[in-house]
Parts: sequence; C-alpha cells; structure tokens
Amino acid sequence: MGIFGNLFSKQACEICKKEVGALSRTKLKDKTYICNDCRKNTSILFEPHLNDLEETKKHLAHMEEMDQLYKEKVEPLSDKEIDFCGHHGSYKIGFVDSIKMFFIITPQTKKKNKKELFAYDEIESFGPYENLNDGSHEGQKRIEECGVAIKMRAYRMPIKIPIAKNVDTPLGGERILEHLNAATGGKHSSMIGAAGAVASTILNNI
Ligand SMILES: [Zn+2]
Repeated sequence: MGIFGNLFSKQACEICKKEVGALSRTKLKDKTYICNDCRKNTSILFEPHLNDLEETKKHLAHMEEMDQLYKEKVEPLSDKEIDFCGHHGSYKIGFVDSIKMFFIITPQTKKKNKKELFAYDEIESFGPYENLNDGSHEGQKRIEECGVAIKMRAYRMPIKIPIAKNVDTPLGGERILEHLNAATGGKHSSMIGAAGAVASTILNNI
C-alpha cells in the first residue's frame, strides 16, 4: 500500500475500538493505535511511543482514579485551602497539603478530559530551569524562558512551570521551590542544581 493508502486507511483504536484515519490516531510502542479522543484522557506527560497497550491501559486507569480523587478532594475546597503559585498567567501550580498532592493548570491541561493529581512522594527531583537563546538575534545571550521543573518518577518528561520569558537574569519561582521543599521534607533540596540541569537538557531536546 502506498503513502496515500496508509493515510486514508482506517485502523481501530485499541482502547475504544473506534475506526480512525491516520490523522486521528497515534501509534503506541507496540504499533497498536490510540485515537485522539482517547488521548484526551491521558496525562500531558504521557508519551504514546514509550508505552505499549497494557501500559497505556494502566495509565488510563490511573488517570480515571486521579480524576475521581480530584472531584472528591479538591473541587470542594475553597481557594484558601489550596496554595496556588505561578506568575505567568496561564501556568499555575496548586498545592493541596491536606492530601499531600499537587496539580497544574497549563494551556495543555485545559485540553485534557481528566484532572491529574501528583503525589508529593512521587516527586523524584525538582529545581529551576533556564532555556538560553543562542544570542544570534540580539548579539547577547538572554534567557528565553525560566521557571521550575519537577520530575515525577512515573514520567520521562518533567513538569514545567514557566515563570518568566526573555530576561537577563533568572527570577521568581521561590515560592514554588519553597513549597516543594516543604512537601518533600527538604530531602531533594540538594538536587536542585542537578535537577534543573537535567530538566533543561531534556526540554531543549524536545
Ligand atoms: Zn479510542
């Protein structure tokens, strides 16, 4: 079959069994497919090509559980009971100390169907990150974007909360880092530098 044959041929989504064309599906690690509708139920950090069908089903079950927990434990809370941090309007992190979990609000999470909660004890490392531009435009290296990155054990990609864009010196994020320190009992504080470096390496490669 030629390129066009593949493009227009329909394949069943292994999750919901719906038949979808090439533009409405993504290949999983084991070459089975997940449709765009089912992908809306995954985490923004979920990478289809790294997960086979079984792992994807497990992930979807986890997301369902987190969504339920969010409805039960977070939705009834007043804003005062959640510590919201974030300077950049469309990116926020909400700490819910009562259940030792946090969630994020970003333009990407707004497109998802399920709310995801992240457990404090699933945090692998965290720290500030900086993406430098190459200096070719203004003749001087500037920080294109800086913020706080959090690496969770379950995902390869870190969570990224941008704080500022196009600045000369990194700024902000102290309150997020402070709360993360408190949430993890300070045991990760020595990893801040390393975590930041790892995070920006990964992020720059995307
Ligand atoms: Zn589907």
